[in-house]
Amino acid sequence: MSLVMPKPDEGTIARRAEIAAVLRSIVSADSVIDDPARLRPYESDGLTAYRQPPLVVVLPETTAQISAILAWCHANAVKVVPRGSGTSLSGGALPLADAVLLGLSRFNRVLDIDYADRIAVVQPGVTNLAVTQAVAERGFYYAPDPSSQIACSIGGNVAENSGGVHCLKYGLTTNNVLGAEIVLMDGEIVRIGGRQLDPAGLDLIGIVVGSEGLLGVVTEVTVRILPKPEIARALLIGFPTVESAGQCVADTIAAGIIPAGMEMMDALAIKAAEDFVRVGYPLDVAALLIVELDGVAAECDHLIEEVAAIARANGAVSLRISQDEPERMAFWAGRKAAFPAVGRLAPDYYCMDGTIPRRRLPEVLERMAALSQAYGLGVANVFHAGDGNLHPLILYDANIPGQLEKAEAFGSDILRLCVEVGGVLTGEHGVGVEKRDLMPVMFSETDLAHQQRVKCAFDPELLLNPGKVFPQLHRCAELGRMHVHRGQVPFPDLPRF
Ligand SMILES: Cc1cc2nc3c(=O)[nH]c(=O)nc-3n(C[C@H](O)[C@H](O)[C@H](O)COP(=O)(O)OP(=O)(O)OC[C@H]3O[C@@H](n4cnc5c(N)ncnc54)[C@H](O)[C@@H]3O)c2cc1C
Repeated sequence: MSLVMPKPDEGTIARRAEIAAVLRSIVSADSVIDDPARLRPYESDGLTAYRQPPLVVVLPETTAQISAILAWCHANAVKVVPRGSGTSLSGGALPLADAVLLGLSRFNRVLDIDYADRIAVVQPGVTNLAVTQAVAERGFYYAPDPSSQIACSIGGNVAENSGGVHCLKYGLTTNNVLGAEIVLMDGEIVRIGGRQLDPAGLDLIGIVVGSEGLLGVVTEVTVRILPKPEIARALLIGFPTVESAGQCVADTIAAGIIPAGMEMMDALAIKAAEDFVRVGYPLDVAALLIVELDGVAAECDHLIEEVAAIARANGAVSLRISQDEPERMAFWAGRKAAFPAVGRLAPDYYCMDGTIPRRRLPEVLERMAALSQAYGLGVANVFHAGDGNLHPLILYDANIPGQLEKAEAFGSDILRLCVEVGGVLTGEHGVGVEKRDLMPVMFSETDLAHQQRVKCAFDPELLLNPGKVFPQLHRCAELGRMHVHRGQVPFPDLPRF
């Protein structure tokens, strides 16, 4: 593995017992874990190729406790890694040997539901699905729906700006979070955003959503809730080529239709999913599109016909329209089971996440197939076609020496390709440690320095989640370097880090 993490500070590691004792003075004794055997479950997140037991785990229950923990760590130069449910696929919650792992799992309460204002206020450890479950009886739901929604936490969703099948129409986490309470590394408690769409002041919520635990610890989140659409129907469309499926996606969006979900699977993924759930996916097609339309019944029926016509014009060889809820759910069953299904094709797979302009889909898939040949590793594609978010699953066997490194090199080539065609390094899984060293492929040194200035504004000592996102973290004082002319700095009244 090529990844290099910041060198652990041996002095901090030597103070483990003292640090654990201080933490026990802030939270209850059973909320601090420092026994090596009990630290093991925390050594990794969803990017399991990387592991590192944390220095100590603390599981606070109140914002005041988090504030006290961070203030003490800040004063004592101890690093902190926030963790929600640990499902990140980019290593965002990977522990450090010299850092406190701050688990948010006990922040698991829904605090307020306001149906008139269509918002819910929740603690960050509440799972994504639990938000929908909390409002379902009144016919509402929370729209962003990562496949991991049964387990992942809202705090993690905020940190990663998570997405899901329905984000094409309803927006990502950033479009569905209105406000948050965050605790800064020095222990200060700050409220950003609010309960309505356009709160006063700078859009700090826009900065914090997607900040991957680098700016502050989220301790409360205000989300939008939506009334469930009257009806949802789906089409299952088979195409003879990936190009024709890609063109159908482009033509549908160009026609002004924004489906509730628009997912594509390639031949390898279709076969794996069908073998796994047996829902009648066609096996003689090169690509399968699942397109869901929702809204009022008349509109939905009309749009279904429009999408069907576009699909036929693009040479669709099979087309089914769901006639009832069980059939619609069956269409989705294969897609939802696609990851575990692909898991049966090889001992290991590596899930990539990059985004490209939709019109470049056929070309990118073709070049990925060529890379697959060159590396000698299979790749199955299951992805959010509507928003160009690819999830190539690279098949490998970690027991064969060198295959993990090969899979990583293949993955990195795919992400470079995404950037080359005008896309971005990540769609929804974040940068974490996984894509950290590829950031210069996408951003210039100046771009990265400006992003780091934001980090420095929130956490000038760089104690929160270090080693993630930035390929090289300059000390904030170095970033603030400037030309001094005859002893005069520009804007001398401005504070410098
Ligand atoms: C099977 C599977 C399917 C997935 N499908 C999707 C998908 O469809 N769409 C998608 O977007 N993602 C998906 N993911 C990735 C993952 O579930 C999301 O990134 C999720 O938002 C992570 O939430 P978590 O609670 O597990 O966060 P963690 O993994 O614990 O942490 C993720 C990051 O958030 C930070 N963090 C966590 N909580 C807080 C907090 N309260 N304050 C500040 N920072 C915090 C951590 O430091 C870390 O950087 C999938 C993962 C798996 C394993």
